[in-house]
Amino acid sequence: MTFDPLRIRSEFPALDQNVNGKPLVYLDSAATSQKPRHVLRALDDYYERDNANVHRGIHELSRRATEGFEEARGKVARWIGASDPAEVIWTSGTTGSINLVASAWGLDNVRAGDEILLSVLEHHSNIVPWQLLARRTGAKLRYVEIDEQGRLILDDLDSLLTDRTKVVAISHVSNALGTVNPVKRIAAAAHARGAVVVVDGAQGAVHTKVDVQDLGVDFYALSGHKMCGPTGSGALWGRRDLLEAMSPYQGGGEMIHFVHRDESTWAELPHKFEAGTPNIAGAIGLGAAVDFLSEIGMDAIQAHERRLMEYALEKVGALDGIRIYGPESLDEHSAVVSFTLGDAHPHDISTILDAEGIAIRAGHHCAQLVMKRYGVSATARASFYLYNTEEDVDRLVEGLGLVVGIFG
Ligand code: PLP
Repeated sequence: MTFDPLRIRSEFPALDQNVNGKPLVYLDSAATSQKPRHVLRALDDYYERDNANVHRGIHELSRRATEGFEEARGKVARWIGASDPAEVIWTSGTTGSINLVASAWGLDNVRAGDEILLSVLEHHSNIVPWQLLARRTGAKLRYVEIDEQGRLILDDLDSLLTDRTKVVAISHVSNALGTVNPVKRIAAAAHARGAVVVVDGAQGAVHTKVDVQDLGVDFYALSGHKMCGPTGSGALWGRRDLLEAMSPYQGGGEMIHFVHRDESTWAELPHKFEAGTPNIAGAIGLGAAVDFLSEIGMDAIQAHERRLMEYALEKVGALDGIRIYGPESLDEHSAVVSFTLGDAHPHDISTILDAEGIAIRAGHHCAQLVMKRYGVSATARASFYLYNTEEDVDRLVEGLGLVVGIFG
């Protein structure tokens, strides 16, 4: 099928509206993506026809809900190249997934004096859970630095990895700069030292073809709402042997086998990590999002985003006073243009663009270590997805022209 951005765009009802009297240009998909009709319909269908709790009732609605819920797990497993759906745990998103690993795997395996290797490129979701673990255990945090283009400086990797390194937690794609990290290479180096590799895939599963087996990682975290799915949906993939050896994260219904007075035994994977009533609609909606994206094809989506980035970097890059942060090579730079413009504060840039119906994000993007690296408190960020077009870029550039007019 040929990739037709206008047809794809027409599947997203929220994009078809005026904001402040102008047609909406949505360039904030790195924060959350818009949702296609296919996903909205799946949510409606579930609530209108199949709404029941999963795995519990011996009745038709519960059977249907369970079937939809478990089918969705299989779809997510296939999307990321996992061979076994039982290795996919439903979570509330990347934050939930990383907290699960840092807490459940971390408390079982990390001790005082051990080291946790992160990078300064990380979203706070892939820093703070590890800080909490370090505080509880007495482990030490170490960081891979980034160069001027926002790429990890991997020359130091061999000295940063030591026999005390228990875990390397790294993002697949940076939300603040768009940097695509060489996860496979990092995973191989980490494994050579016996460390476990946790990947923050919040932006990775959105913009790259993910194959967890090929990447050779141990855990991969993703958010449904960034890839056309509902908010509050997400998943953690983990290697079966690690998940089986781990203590549960939360206790409650569904995650037990037997409950005795003083102790309990645990359910099989994946249920051991899914205490309580899960986000059933969210999981089914995420499954529908995977169907929608699979139908279009990740290769076509990636090629479209690359063309758009090429166009955006050229047009935005030509503005007076612009500074774009992130890698120069499109092989290493995913669908985010992070920038400052002269003396204009990013919040002012965003406010002026909003008046033109253009939605971008301004701020530290939950990546304060990145901001600190460049000595800025914030950047403006335009992020692209499959439904954006060159016309959106043109509108952005026109809007930025107004910013230049006001701030000089
Ligand atoms: N990691 C990265 C790279 C992100 O971009 C985000 C969200 O912006 C997160 C983690 C957190 O994801 P969520 O808020 O869906 O848990």
